[in-house]
Amino acid sequence: VHPTATRRPYPIVVQSENTSYSDEFITSKFVNRGAAVTVRDGQFVVAPTSKAYEFQTARKVAKTGLMMIGIGGNNGTTLCATVLANRHNISWHTKSGIQQPNYIGSMLRASTVSLGMDPSTGKDVHVPVCDVLPMAHPNDLVLGGWDISGVPMDEAMKRAEVLDWDLQRQVAPRMAQLGRPLPSIYYPDFIAANQEARADNVILGTDKQVHLEHIRADIRRFKQENGLDRVVVFWTANTERYADVIPGINDTADNILKAIETSHSEVSPSTVFAVAAILEGEPFVNGAPQNTFVPGVIELAERHKSFIGGDDLKSGQTKLKSVFAEFLVNAGIKPLSIASYNHLGNNDGHNLSAERQFKSKEISKSSVVDDMVAANPLLYKPPAPGVPKGSKEAKGEHPDHIVVIKYVPAVGDSKRAIDEYYSEIFCGGRSTINIFNECEDSLLATPLILDLTILTELLTRVKYRDASASGEFAPLYSVLSLLSYMLKAPLVKPGTDVVNSLNRQRNALEAFLKACIGLESNSDLLLETRIW
Ligand code: NAD
Repeated sequence: VHPTATRRPYPIVVQSENTSYSDEFITSKFVNRGAAVTVRDGQFVVAPTSKAYEFQTARKVAKTGLMMIGIGGNNGTTLCATVLANRHNISWHTKSGIQQPNYIGSMLRASTVSLGMDPSTGKDVHVPVCDVLPMAHPNDLVLGGWDISGVPMDEAMKRAEVLDWDLQRQVAPRMAQLGRPLPSIYYPDFIAANQEARADNVILGTDKQVHLEHIRADIRRFKQENGLDRVVVFWTANTERYADVIPGINDTADNILKAIETSHSEVSPSTVFAVAAILEGEPFVNGAPQNTFVPGVIELAERHKSFIGGDDLKSGQTKLKSVFAEFLVNAGIKPLSIASYNHLGNNDGHNLSAERQFKSKEISKSSVVDDMVAANPLLYKPPAPGVPKGSKEAKGEHPDHIVVIKYVPAVGDSKRAIDEYYSEIFCGGRSTINIFNECEDSLLATPLILDLTILTELLTRVKYRDASASGEFAPLYSVLSLLSYMLKAPLVKPGTDVVNSLNRQRNALEAFLKACIGLESNSDLLLETRIW
């Protein structure tokens, strides 16, 4: 895994007329190639398209803070303790020997991309993904945040029961220095009733406008006290129930601001946090499944050119599903049903044992195969023409897909995920594949939170313009769908299609990072190996 040195000179030079470097920026030209397809009398008429863009990436990595909502939970404490272990090079004894801290599970720090081929060896040259553009190092993130539970961070880490005791023991004094989480917003109607006993650290009163101002002031103070250029605000608190989307209340930017002013009951804590971050000009990422980003919040982010990303970390079962279902459908095999069962015993599982919070998770876990099915009309009959949008029939033929989650305290943070893929194969045959996936939940989630934070910070530094118009460089669109790889139910630009396939999500990210340094995305064509 990538060395822990946090500040190294940027290691890549692209020698091309498409790429230029200054002290401040890396600027690249990139031709976005596609194809326009029209179907005429059963014939596909395809016209290749291309449009040239320029990307400009600020080279100076912002001094970045990560403010987590839910910092006292399993993810929050695991993230803080493991970053501290990495930062201070703390190793610990386990029953199988000495364990060094690392960032395994981080796509940015523990996986690579190929830059091209070394002509002298004919072999691909791989670099860590985090070296393609200047990115923040997780060790350098300034950590802080809120929790409705006021238990100090060292005690909260102990409560989580995630990390080996010898690591906890050594990191505890540094965790204690993080103090207690900041008091947070608690509206009992949004999380399970079984969480009430934790809520001893809440911002008083019921005035949501006051709560909004309070959170904004917290972000400003954190930024100022730590000398930060950027704060990523990250929801890793309990899953909330869905908020009802009500015309006049949360459907537009103006309405959501008014609904906060009048303390409307359908404004959730996570939405107040998202609005606070947007108004402060800081990015907000939602690591849980609820609909924090009601339409009014998306419009507000657009209005302020702020960045948002979500929803729900894709750590275990769904990550595998977004690979496995695609593998089956792309192999020409037809899944007839996908049945997913989970049981887990951590506080997240306790919260999800309540019906309305489970519903949020069920929704985010359920849509993951939709795009793969829609892409294969040979296996799945598409919807009949003229079927009303949003109706049951609008989805067309689809595998049966169920998701069950049960709370089993004994297994703690070690979630069990059981999936059955039941498929139709050649000439009426059937195939059944069962997968038993045991996930150390918070150890899978922590590297995702880090990657999301670091990518988000990077994407705030990338600007683009139409190469033919040569106008001002503009920031990327507010909804950062390039974060999809780490998210179960990716939020995308309204009106555009969601991509769930893990491979396609990774390809998109890789292609984008490379475009920013003027390289074409990887080609697996390997033509030189196929010709004389
Ligand atoms: P957790 O229950 O251990 O931690 C959540 C923390 O949030 C708790 O400390 C709780 O006190 C706090 N909290 C609740 N409401 C709050 C509020 N309004 N403001 C501030 N703090 C609040 O859960 P976890 O295992 O750390 O998971 C956190 C979230 O991440 C959950 O929503 C979970 O569904 C989501 N998630 C986790 C994973 C994973 O693999 N661990 C994967 C996907 C999504």
